[in-house]
Amino acid sequence: MMKKTVVLILLSVLLMSAVSCRNQSSASSAADSTLSQNTTVQPSAESSAPADRAEQPSVNSQPKQESLHPSSQSAESSQTPESSAPASQPAESSQTSESSAPASQPAESNLASASSVSSSQSVESTSSNELQTTSEVSSMQQSFSETSTSTENSVSDIFLNIHTKVSSVSVSWNLIKNADGYIVECSSSADFPQEYTSERQTTENSLTFEQLQQNTTYFLRIRTYRTKNGERIYSGWSETYTAPLKTIEVIDGATYVDGVLIANKTYALPSYFGYGLTDETYQAYNAMVAAAAADGITLWMESGFRSYDTQSFTYQSFVWDRGVALADLCSARPGHSEHQTGLALDFNTTSDAFAYTPEAAWIEAHCAEFGFIIRYPQGKEEITGYKYEPWHVRYLGMEKAAEISASGLTLEEYYGITSIYQD
Ligand SMILES: [Zn+2]
Repeated sequence: MMKKTVVLILLSVLLMSAVSCRNQSSASSAADSTLSQNTTVQPSAESSAPADRAEQPSVNSQPKQESLHPSSQSAESSQTPESSAPASQPAESSQTSESSAPASQPAESNLASASSVSSSQSVESTSSNELQTTSEVSSMQQSFSETSTSTENSVSDIFLNIHTKVSSVSVSWNLIKNADGYIVECSSSADFPQEYTSERQTTENSLTFEQLQQNTTYFLRIRTYRTKNGERIYSGWSETYTAPLKTIEVIDGATYVDGVLIANKTYALPSYFGYGLTDETYQAYNAMVAAAAADGITLWMESGFRSYDTQSFTYQSFVWDRGVALADLCSARPGHSEHQTGLALDFNTTSDAFAYTPEAAWIEAHCAEFGFIIRYPQGKEEITGYKYEPWHVRYLGMEKAAEISASGLTLEEYYGITSIYQD
């Protein structure tokens, strides 16, 4: 009996606080309000709704919306740095609520964070009659797909997948039902003061921000919009994601990308670099040869470490034989050979016919299991700078080799680097 009374009292209190919460509307937390912007604000209404604007950071002024008008954007031209649209800056700088979002949270935290928004709240618009409705976002469950006739949406179910390179970030996301498009911002500051905005229409769910500053951590966020009566209705911004670009550093004249030593046409090694295959490479090679033998495949090392001086001689021989252009396709200039890293080796025979042997097929199928990748794959000559070499493998360790191998990308593509002689 006592218990029942207590429960009843508790229920009453909860009910009262829920009503009170609803009435407070814009007094609720700023962070929550980002999930419930329900309307665009027309210019004439702006002065009449200053409180709403303060609480609705992503309900921006008209110029911002115009700068993102679909007709002015094609998929190709949509990666427009926002700095070219200064009119939008003041509106963005008022988005103080997002800046309080913990920028360092891993992507996985997005769901948890979004689901924590559980309180009902209402935001009233005074901008126009047709949009003068009180909308409510009661929980993360509410989104476009479930409220197709209402004016709000939610970003709680958008998730960014991020792949960083040395100077670019590629993002993709799940398509949201009934969204007309997506706005993605990328900034070197979690406050997004100088954001770099891009936009995609509904059918597209990926984009790449390029020409970013190396060795910098970028911040990303996404929101959706619908178009109603010619007006864009934006969702709030998602959680802020961090995107640390792959680091690129030069140590004693050698270039490392994310700790991976690079020697290609762009990045050279100093003449004194290297002394032989690294222990790890040699052990991985031995393990691979043994495993191949168990499968009835005979592998041997045709060429392992090559010093700067050896490579000078090798390359010069090619030049004498075939001229510079052909030599550059199949032999590295001194300092640019991956063999000088002590992490690369050639199997069996370095002739084009090797590609059609069972040995080559076995190498391709299994080398990643031992930490190697086929460094110069078929059809990637323009990217790696070398013709297909089924015999040449590069040691990266099992984890990285498996990841890069599975990506189908060359080392250059995976890290976003070039392989081009400077002269
Ligand atoms: Zn080689």
